Amino acid sequence: MAAEVAPVVLGIDLDGVCVDTYERLRLVAAEWFERDADSLTPWVSFGLSEWGVRSPQEHADLLRFAVTQRDLFGSAPPMPGARRVLRRLMQEGHRVRIIARRLALANEPALAAKQTLAWLDLYAIPYADVCFTDGSTDVGADIYVDDAPDEIARLRGAGRYAICFGNSTNEHVASPRAMGWDEVYGFVRERARAAGEAP
Ligand SMILES: [Mg+2]
Repeated sequence: MAAEVAPVVLGIDLDGVCVDTYERLRLVAAEWFERDADSLTPWVSFGLSEWGVRSPQEHADLLRFAVTQRDLFGSAPPMPGARRVLRRLMQEGHRVRIIARRLALANEPALAAKQTLAWLDLYAIPYADVCFTDGSTDVGADIYVDDAPDEIARLRGAGRYAICFGNSTNEHVASPRAMGWDEVYGFVRERARAAGEAP
């Protein structure tokens, strides 16, 4: 009898999908700009112009400060549902491949990797592999979950199945678009079931 749901490799983006990186960065930015955190909107676009970041250089400086001085990747809160749903998917036989596109972010690869692995332990995020990349490598997954419009477009353009993890930076991205981890689970089950029924 054919398996009802075929085991798949899941390529799971960290920032904005497993980790609420923007929420932690918002508090660091408040300190950086000497502003009340409540005055910084959580609804930001990629360049953080809503917080007053005026240039790519300032964006890089803020990120570097956050990583090297405020443990950004080690102290950001987990996205609700991430560990619960990932644990369930692992228990169902799927392989969780974490994608950390953080190597080029603050130009601190060793520190970024150390903070990332400690964070995965701290919040008991289950995984089989962790791929540290500069963002240009395809990690060979069957299903991707990502929140970056550019990355989703790149993956879909290459014929990959990519679920958009919905937030304020990707409101224009087409379905499959999940609002939270329970919807991610539904999309993965549907796709894995279709794979299991394929001849
Ligand atoms: Mg992301």
